[in-house]
Amino acid sequence: MKAIVYSSPGKFKYTDVPKPTVKSDEVLIQIKSCGLCRTDIHIHEGHFIAKFPLINGHEFAGIVEEVGEKVQDFKVGDRVLADNTELCGACYFCRNNQPLYCENFVSHGCNCAGGFAEYVAIKAKKVFKIKNLSFREAVMVEPTACAIHGLDIIKARPGSEVLLFGAGPTGNILAQLLKQNGAAYLTVAAPPGIKLDLIKKLAADEIVPVDKKDYSKHERTLITSHPKGFDIVIDATGVPQLLSETPKYAKVGGQIIAYGVYPEESNIIVKPYDIFKRELTIKGSFAQTHCFGRALLYLENKQIKVDQLITHEIHLKDYGKALKIMKERQGVKIAIIPS
Ligand SMILES: [Zn+2]
Ligand SMILES: [Zn+2]
Repeated sequence: MKAIVYSSPGKFKYTDVPKPTVKSDEVLIQIKSCGLCRTDIHIHEGHFIAKFPLINGHEFAGIVEEVGEKVQDFKVGDRVLADNTELCGACYFCRNNQPLYCENFVSHGCNCAGGFAEYVAIKAKKVFKIKNLSFREAVMVEPTACAIHGLDIIKARPGSEVLLFGAGPTGNILAQLLKQNGAAYLTVAAPPGIKLDLIKKLAADEIVPVDKKDYSKHERTLITSHPKGFDIVIDATGVPQLLSETPKYAKVGGQIIAYGVYPEESNIIVKPYDIFKRELTIKGSFAQTHCFGRALLYLENKQIKVDQLITHEIHLKDYGKALKIMKERQGVKIAIIPS
C-alpha cells in the first residue's frame, strides 16, 4: 500500500509499504480521509510523543476491509472511524481508572502507525460506525473528542464568560461546545482571517483581532470591554507568551486552561501571589481517551457543525504540499485523501 513514512524527524517519503495484517481482535480500515492536525507539525519536527519510523495521521475514517476472527461487531463494508488511543489496561494508572495517564499510552499516528496510508489495522474495540457523516466530516470526530475532554476538565459553570485564544479547527469546535455547555458569553481572540470569521459565524459572541507584532492592542480591547475579566480563559494556540498573559484576563476565582501543544523546552512566568490572592486555577487538557462516543453524537446530530471547517482536500501523494499550506496558515482544516 501507499503511505507517508517518516524515517526520522523532517524526513518522510510517499512510498510502498506492506499492507498491515489484522490480528484476531482487529479490523483493517481502508482510509477514505484523514485530517492533518497541528500536532502533525510537532510530530514532523520530532516533538510531542513521536516515535520513528512512523506513519502519522491520527484523525482517520474509512471502510472496513477485513475483520479479525474474533471480531463480531463489524463486517466488511461498514463505514467507520476509530479512537486512535490504545491503553495497556495493566499499568498503575490504568488500574487506578485513569486510562488517559496510561504509562504505555499508544496513539495511532503519533507513536504507532496511523492514517496517512491506504490502510490501518486497529483494535475493533476502538472502532465506531458512522451513519449521517461524510468521510470528510468524520475526520473532525477526533478533534471533537479532544474538545470534549477539554470540557470535562473545564466544567464550566452555567452563565460563564469565556475568553478563548485561538480560532483553529479544534478551537472552533471547542467554541461551539462551550456555547452549548456553560458559556453564556464567548469572546475569541485570534489573528484576523478566515478562521476568526468562521468562529464568529459558528460560535463566538465577540471576536478580538490579535496583532502578532503588538499584543498591547488586544490587551487594551479585552481589558476595556471586560474590566472584571473572564471566568474561564483558554489558550488553544500553544504560544507560551499568550498563555503567560492569561492571568491578567481572568476574574478573581477564575480558571486558566492550557489547551495547546507547547514547545517542550518553553517556560512561562506566573506571579504566585496572583494565584494565591485571586484564587486562580491553572489546568491542562491533553488529548483524550474514551470521548469518541460523545463526540460522534454531537457530529451525527449536526449539533456541532464541521463541514465548513474543511477547506482543503489533498491527495496523500501531495502530503508535503499540505504541510506547506498548513505552515503558511492558509484555510482552516486540511483532509488528506489516500485515493
Ligand atoms: Zn489532532
Ligand atoms: Zn496503562
